[in-house]
Amino acid sequence: MHVDLHASYRDTAEGIAAKDYLSACVHCGFCLATCPTYLDNQDERDSPRGRIYLIKQLLETGSASATTQTHLDRCLTCRSCETICPSGVQYGALADIGKHLVEAQVKRPIVSRATRWLLRKTLSNPTLFARLLRIGQFFRPLTPEFLRNKIPPKQNVKTPPSQSPESQSRRMLALQGCIQSAATPNTTAATQRVLHKLGISLISENKAGCCGAVNYHLNAHNDGLNDMRKNIDAWWPMIEPDSGPGVEAIISTASGCGSMLVDYGRLLADDPTYAAKAQRVSELSKDISEILLAEDLQSLTPHTSIGKVAVHTPCSLQHALQLPDAVTSILSKAGFDLADTTESHLCCGSAGTYSILQSDISERLLDKKLVALNIDQPALIATANIGCQLQMGTKSKIPVRHWIELLDESAS
Ligand code: SF4
Ligand code: SF4
Repeated sequence: MHVDLHASYRDTAEGIAAKDYLSACVHCGFCLATCPTYLDNQDERDSPRGRIYLIKQLLETGSASATTQTHLDRCLTCRSCETICPSGVQYGALADIGKHLVEAQVKRPIVSRATRWLLRKTLSNPTLFARLLRIGQFFRPLTPEFLRNKIPPKQNVKTPPSQSPESQSRRMLALQGCIQSAATPNTTAATQRVLHKLGISLISENKAGCCGAVNYHLNAHNDGLNDMRKNIDAWWPMIEPDSGPGVEAIISTASGCGSMLVDYGRLLADDPTYAAKAQRVSELSKDISEILLAEDLQSLTPHTSIGKVAVHTPCSLQHALQLPDAVTSILSKAGFDLADTTESHLCCGSAGTYSILQSDISERLLDKKLVALNIDQPALIATANIGCQLQMGTKSKIPVRHWIELLDESAS
């Protein structure tokens, strides 16, 4: 696709990068069939190709309308279109630029601006989010049903194994995350126990916080990049200690956060202070499934049957991290009975803050997803990302859990 950049973007890093991404698109339209929003409303402007044309128009004219903003806002950034694209268009990176440039052009109504600001300030701050969640959980029994379902109940966390950093020969660093650490703390505790059985010590650093995805995907790029720099500073002494070897990997148990970590190198490439460190963080970043795929799981074989497990592989795991079969492969290797499912490539509608900002589309996608996951009468749903877990938990009739908890409990 040929793009003639408008003068206002011609010498900018975003304009040049976007032109590069756009040039790979050959307008074939293969991506339409896998786009959840296009399948939802059949409007080409809510398809990858349609959005690509809208971004091209912005780059060539130097201006955008509220209509363009609406169609870009409706994109889940699920990157299903990237997986299917025969030309290798990096749609996710392009959409981030397109949304950011439109944000600078089109002023949102005050309610929209206030909502987005509030989401950024609360969700990217683990301490504040944890406090608000505790208040919500305290009043949960008194709230109406539609609201109660959106507040995850307090989790019982089994004590993780006590471990000094020297207790095991192998050491990995955990990304605690902001929402998961407050809403489902058992995920990290279960990961710690599973890795402990494999001779790996999982350590964490409390000075690290949100991976940057909340701010970055709400078009506050500078705040998102600062979240990333803060994490790099917190982790660096463990990556390159003054003496001894550094950690083997940085583990994420929320694939949405993991897909942000692998992008640190690209996003901070122009920062002379952080570029090399960011690249190192990206190289060390691994989803927990990647680690377990390479380990001998004999010691984790389940003792009892828990019934059929329907696996929901999050978009971030299958399309961004390109690990579509990792969870099913680990669970079936470990002896779990996996349920048949359909439409596994389609998003559950969670997509970060999408379920709040685009609630109508999100609800329809969730309904479809739950039907697709329940065709084989599973006993529970297993997933790999906190956003999907909470989203499906609002309506699912069966438990929705992180798959690492199943591995942990069944083998203990
Ligand atoms: S599949 Fe790829 S090349 Fe074809 S229209 Fe979609 S983005 Fe463009
Ligand atoms: S990222 Fe997902 S929602 Fe957005 S255009 Fe691609 S397939 Fe559609």
